[in-house]
Amino acid sequence: MLRIARVLAPNPDVYTLEGTNTWVVGDDPSLVIDPGPDIREHLEEIAREAGRVGAVIVTHDHPDHAPGAVGFAASVGAPLFAFRLKGAERLRDGQVVSAGRVEATAVHTPGHTADHVAVWLEPEGALFTGDAVLGRGTSFIDPSEGDLSKYLASLRKMAALGPRTIYPGHGPIVLDAREKLEEYLAHRAEREEQVQSALADGLRSVGEIVQRIYADYPRDVRPLAAGSVLAHLKKLEHEGRVDRSGTGDRAKYALVSLKTCERCGRRPATPRTKYCGPCALAVLQGDEHVAEKLD
Ligand SMILES: [Zn+2]
Ligand SMILES: [Zn+2]
Repeated sequence: MLRIARVLAPNPDVYTLEGTNTWVVGDDPSLVIDPGPDIREHLEEIAREAGRVGAVIVTHDHPDHAPGAVGFAASVGAPLFAFRLKGAERLRDGQVVSAGRVEATAVHTPGHTADHVAVWLEPEGALFTGDAVLGRGTSFIDPSEGDLSKYLASLRKMAALGPRTIYPGHGPIVLDAREKLEEYLAHRAEREEQVQSALADGLRSVGEIVQRIYADYPRDVRPLAAGSVLAHLKKLEHEGRVDRSGTGDRAKYALVSLKTCERCGRRPATPRTKYCGPCALAVLQGDEHVAEKLD
């Protein structure tokens, strides 16, 4: 069994729960994941726990995961890997990073941020999920660059690895990885339904929708909630299921009403087109009046 130890950074807040988990994997040399914030006492504690370090990986460049990494890696003389962090060697999806007996595979998992990677130890069934999956509560989508569609794809990609245990960037270890990933996917599907039903009831702005869906939550989480609702609206807009008018805080949203396919007259048409999926395909492959149908 490989040693997997946690060093908790002293940076608790609403985003980081008890603080950032820095993970130390293996021995002499070890692999260090997410040195975290640039706090001297924390970096010294990691160094004591880690002993000789073979490699350092950063899951993404948020301020609670990355700022201590460059200095830490230099101080222990180990190479530093990340998807886009300045001063790190650039990771590719699927790249294997070795440190002693540890063979870690970088799994690009965008969504929370564009540069997010999970770290996969196949023999142990151990998946280090950074901020893509937390030990408690839900992850959020960074409003500036996050992407809910990509995030959902990343959750499925992680589930497909078949992990046993999740070592998250925040919160406790998750002993049933499969159940947790399914719970995350179900949670997002449920939120999407809530957003759609709020729109169906005539609510138009992010603020109105947040007030409806998060009525029972403390006010402190409203900014986070607004980011989550906005991520769902962006996804629905991108899929052509929601129309937006205005931008920024003034943006108003409405469901796109689904028309019936003009060809079969039974199935709903794909948003903003005349045909349902099967009929569009039939028309494209078409032996029938293609030009007329596509006018
Ligand atoms: Zn983050
Ligand atoms: Zn984080």
